[in-house]
Amino acid sequence: MLNIVLFGPPGAGKGTQSQMLIEKFKLIHLSTGDILRNEIKNKTTLGLQAKELMDNGKLIPDDVVINMIKSILEKNVNSTGFIFDGFPRTQEQALSLDQLLKHQNTSISAMVSLKVDDKELIKRLLSRGKDSGRADDQSTEIIANRIEEYNNKTAPLKLYYKNQSKLHEISGLGSIDEITIRLNSVINSL
Ligand code: AMP
Repeated sequence: MLNIVLFGPPGAGKGTQSQMLIEKFKLIHLSTGDILRNEIKNKTTLGLQAKELMDNGKLIPDDVVINMIKSILEKNVNSTGFIFDGFPRTQEQALSLDQLLKHQNTSISAMVSLKVDDKELIKRLLSRGKDSGRADDQSTEIIANRIEEYNNKTAPLKLYYKNQSKLHEISGLGSIDEITIRLNSVINSL
């Protein structure tokens, strides 16, 4: 199995690039943000619990997202692999993901981290907010919360994967095609 953690701050382009990669490498796209937004849309208990945290740019508790991932992995044991987009976001999530994959005799192949400066991130998120209406893309204050959560809790995961020689960092600046070419070349080199 090819299991890629597509990593980077909010607005780095993980969702956009995931779409390119799932087609080329026949992978399942697993975006915890998309799953949670779907739960909110369907007004499920989980969605109602998650909404306030998400709208304020705060992370959802680990056990909630880990259980979501667990049930999807269990339903797709025979797949070619996964793109994890927006997961893991904490050390606890990364440890659980390793365990869950181990149960299925597989592991993370690589983390590819997209590097984009804060100024560009804020610009991209505000512009996406106008197009999509996403609540957490609407104000610079909420965007700042999300970048802060990323810097404090999520960015340290680069070290977790670096210590396993799985970290690949690429620039997330430039056109969508340019970034896809960089990503493809990392994945093809695995
Ligand atoms: P995203 O679409 O990945 O930017 O995620 C949007 C929001 O969903 C985040 O700001 C969090 O509130 C929540 N979220 C998504 N994935 C996770 C995760 N792995 N752990 C905790 N919260 C998450």
